[in-house]
Amino acid sequence: MKSRIGFPVVVAAPSGTGKTTVCRQVVSRDPKIEFSVSHTTRTRREGERDGVDYHFVDQAEFMREAESDGFLEWAVYNDRRYGTSWRAIEAPLAEGRDVLLEIEVQGARQVRERRPDARFIFLLPPSFETLRARLTGRGTDTPEQVERRLELARRELEAVGDFDYAVVNDDLEACVRDVLAILEAERRGEVDALRARFDPDRAAERLKSGE
Ligand code: 5GP
Repeated sequence: MKSRIGFPVVVAAPSGTGKTTVCRQVVSRDPKIEFSVSHTTRTRREGERDGVDYHFVDQAEFMREAESDGFLEWAVYNDRRYGTSWRAIEAPLAEGRDVLLEIEVQGARQVRERRPDARFIFLLPPSFETLRARLTGRGTDTPEQVERRLELARRELEAVGDFDYAVVNDDLEACVRDVLAILEAERRGEVDALRARFDPDRAAERLKSGE
């Protein structure tokens, strides 16, 4: 039997959409996909582990990797650098496992150019109001910072039309199940029904009209 080659799955979403939680759940429940551990120059947050959540590196090391073409993609976000190394994805793909890249939209664009086999899923908040409520509810940002994040979210949402699927994260469990179903459909090559159900253009329209 011909051995299977995995595919990269890009998951992007505006901050406050619950992307990290959804991605962690998906990877823990689907043995056929693993998480791509990115490099970043941002400082480690409490509870994060080096080599597990990110490879935490300094600016010089990051740029060395970038200049030697070690990254599939990289971007600056919030004044910090983030990148997916080729190393992070190549071994699992060759071994027949899919790889989940939880990245922002500039990086997603680079993956689209360099990896035609990649699949793209955008997670959406149910509405701007819920996004505002979630960001405010975190209690970590001032009202001005919340407004800045919302503005950034609006801009990020403009990229939704370039994705294959748009999944609304209203209910965590439902959203995780939707993503798992998409992965299975992609592996089977039976994608029409789910691409229609999670049509990104329709989702963008709904969000704009505040439905
Ligand atoms: P955080 O600092 O909150 O962990 O991540 C900030 C943003 O950077 C999130 O949107 C996250 O998805 C994105 N990100 C994490 N890793 C990468 C990466 O390797 N490349 C790119 N382009 N974005 C990333």
